[in-house]
Amino acid sequence: MSFQDLGLNPKLLKALDAEGYTTPTPIQSQAIPLALAGRDVQGIAQTGTGKTAAFALPILHRLAANPKRPAPGCCRVLVLSPTRELASQIADSFRAYGKFMDLRSTVMFGGVPKGKQARAMQMGVDVLVATPGRLIDHLQDRAVNLSQVEILVLDEADHMLDLGFIVPIRQIVKMIPTERQTMFFSATMPKEIGNLASQMLKNPAHVAVTPVATTAERISQHVILLDTSHKRSVLCELLSSVVSGRTLVFTRTKHGADRVVKQLGESGLAAVAIHGNKSQGQRERALAEFKTGRCRVLVATDIAARGIDVDGVSHVINFDLPNVPETYVHRIGRTARAGADGAAISLCDGEERAFLRDIEKVIRMKIPQLPAPTARVARPRAA
Ligand code: AMP
Repeated sequence: MSFQDLGLNPKLLKALDAEGYTTPTPIQSQAIPLALAGRDVQGIAQTGTGKTAAFALPILHRLAANPKRPAPGCCRVLVLSPTRELASQIADSFRAYGKFMDLRSTVMFGGVPKGKQARAMQMGVDVLVATPGRLIDHLQDRAVNLSQVEILVLDEADHMLDLGFIVPIRQIVKMIPTERQTMFFSATMPKEIGNLASQMLKNPAHVAVTPVATTAERISQHVILLDTSHKRSVLCELLSSVVSGRTLVFTRTKHGADRVVKQLGESGLAAVAIHGNKSQGQRERALAEFKTGRCRVLVATDIAARGIDVDGVSHVINFDLPNVPETYVHRIGRTARAGADGAAISLCDGEERAFLRDIEKVIRMKIPQLPAPTARVARPRAA
């Protein structure tokens, strides 16, 4: 199936062509026809599957089919996203796919002043992408009015739950007309998320893409068993002689991320970090350096990395193993996106062996061992 077969507006087809997309991903070929027909959609899909375009394309098609000037302070489409990174990326995607349309869009999230965001709403916009907390602030200031929303999207609902956004979401949804189209995406559908979906959606069509555990099959996975004290030198060795592409290094803590960047720097390897203690400007700069390839190593914590959309990550290195197995699946899913192949290498010390066993249970495979890159770092030095 092609994007033409889906019957999308020629302006969107032109933009997709410019993006280099040739074939819809599975979530796109499932969700787009349903959304174009006006159905509510409940989707199970994680980042990396192409879910953003799965909702953005039919939304833009519907906006183009019924152009209207949005009223001041109003938006025709509201997309709720859990994190500022994801919100920015969704807004970028709308801009990219809508670049041949006369589209007004804006994004709002916390951590930056509100004034500019409020001014962007004054004339009204077609698409507003927002994190729930900051949107509530703007609603209280009466800078945003949701009475004209025609389409509502809730993205990464399970992550919203993790971050405690369910109450603000309920408040927000109450302000949106019930006569609307709603699309709801989540990587997992625990009971609480299922309940929220059933309150928000009307007779939804269900779409799902292969569960995370099997997404991992396209990724070559290895583990290096080593002493904690060797992690640093093994990482340097991997980055300088084994791993050549764009690499995402995961650490469990913010402090750990900063330490790894510093240690790599001391070994002459340029790396940037992204985590919750960094300012918005610092995060954007780090991401930009990584995206443009000026810096090929990005060190991130799990929360900060969720929703980062960077193409062409060839390697994921787990400097620490996560204690939640699903996090491992999320992490390695940052490579091998949209059909490319990727590789994941995990450094596992004695204390992390139990985490490794849990991960292997969830992914239903034994991760093959890789010898540490050199004898020098692999074995304790002989006395
Ligand atoms: P998402 O799951 O929305 O975060 O998308 C994952 C990545 O796949 C993004 O970098 C998109 O730009 C890319 N992508 C989405 N749809 C397609 C497609 N049909 N063909 C190629 N790349 C795509």
